[in-house]
Amino acid sequence: MDICSLTIRQAKEALDRKEFSAIELVEACLENSTKYDGILKALLTVDVDGARQEASAADRLRAQGVSKPLLGIPFVLKDLYTTKGLRTTAGSKIIDNYTPPFDATVVVRLKNAGAVILGKANQDAWGHGSSGENSDYFPTKNPYDTSRVPGGSSSGSAVAVASGMCLAATGTDTGSSVRLPASFCNLVGIKPTYGRVSRYGIIAMASSFDTIGHMTKTIWDNALVYEITAGKDPLDASSVDRSVPRYTQALGKAISGVKIGLPKEYFSSKGIDSSVFTATKDAIKELEALGAMFVEVSLPHTDVAMACYYILVPAEISSNLARFDGIRYGYGREVLGEEAKRRITMGTHALSSGYYDAYYKRAAKVRTLIKNDFDEAFQHVDVILIPASPATPFKIGEKTQDPLAMYLSDIFMCPVNIAGAPALSVPCGFVDGLPIGFQLIGPQFEEERLYQVGYAYEQEAPWYKTKPDLKKVIRTI
Ligand code: GLN
Repeated sequence: MDICSLTIRQAKEALDRKEFSAIELVEACLENSTKYDGILKALLTVDVDGARQEASAADRLRAQGVSKPLLGIPFVLKDLYTTKGLRTTAGSKIIDNYTPPFDATVVVRLKNAGAVILGKANQDAWGHGSSGENSDYFPTKNPYDTSRVPGGSSSGSAVAVASGMCLAATGTDTGSSVRLPASFCNLVGIKPTYGRVSRYGIIAMASSFDTIGHMTKTIWDNALVYEITAGKDPLDASSVDRSVPRYTQALGKAISGVKIGLPKEYFSSKGIDSSVFTATKDAIKELEALGAMFVEVSLPHTDVAMACYYILVPAEISSNLARFDGIRYGYGREVLGEEAKRRITMGTHALSSGYYDAYYKRAAKVRTLIKNDFDEAFQHVDVILIPASPATPFKIGEKTQDPLAMYLSDIFMCPVNIAGAPALSVPCGFVDGLPIGFQLIGPQFEEERLYQVGYAYEQEAPWYKTKPDLKKVIRTI
């Protein structure tokens, strides 16, 4: 058995029982990256020496009886998490040579919990994208079908977990970027409430939308990583000072009587592939059998959400990318990729005098309407369920010439970021060997409820056990 295909929970127990050591686990993950990453292209930097040192230190601590929640568990970080002494590119060649002098707060928290950092994951440059194809380096491939995208922008993070190069990975979700790759790679992905997890040390995309989430094989693993990373950070003024529940303890609670809303705007079958529709309906039936109650709700401003997102987000991007001017650090702006230039242009236009009122200010008002839609729906239900994506993973190259088609691939996700709400993407089946997922969305700070419902479903439908055929990946060489 490949020990890298274990969940965090299983690996922790096996480490405690001394079935293998942390160094053996790390070596097995490194071996997988050597075997598969020539094809999959999930990693931009592998810290072989650092990972070996951290794993040996974890083994020493365990031998001394020290217990930490992630002691010896191998992680990969999206490359826009700054890491002290380890190259950090945000997937962009403009900072190809950047080695940060500090760790992001989430990295500090993971390390304090005993995690072993194996390396940095490929991504769409700056987080702009839905497929991983906007990386300035190379596209990442989906291990379930290497002719298809793994979802973006946290493409490498998802593929690293799905192909056993680590046991869990971090991502960021500004409009979809944890949930979409999670659902395209049969993983669980959390998009936190805005402000729940510190953004300090995360290279900014759109500051009022960016959230810092994780991808794991199971709900329990996700809840564990979340309770370690969430919580107030004095270094991030937008992080919220509110106690962090032990999310793992909500798991296993019955869900009978939980009210789940199905927004009618998302269930018109014309916008969803029939396979996704069927898998979502099956998941609903499963949850009903567990005692959940379903009611229809409405999110009336859904049709203007993408327009709102693609005004506000580029506006913030144009401001955040201004610092990469080639003077203070990094290369000159001529190195910026097509998509970054497109967004700077759109954002600068929306903010310019004469257009500001017509675009930015109007979109900011629409943002409030969309948030109000969610608040109103949550007066009637505990959580909302919708498909993760209208379709299964698409072919590499299929949407690269059509930015609008690419933007619309996360039409089911961006509205959640506009509202600042939390959402959890949960695997719910396969069609033609390709993963499908659904999303649970909750009121702000109600992640506990999302994990509770997701866990109950996963006990009945453990799709995480369906792994990609990695022998087939090698045969594609
Ligand atoms: N696909 C969306 C975009 O390109 C979301 C990206 C993200 O969440 N980082 O803006």
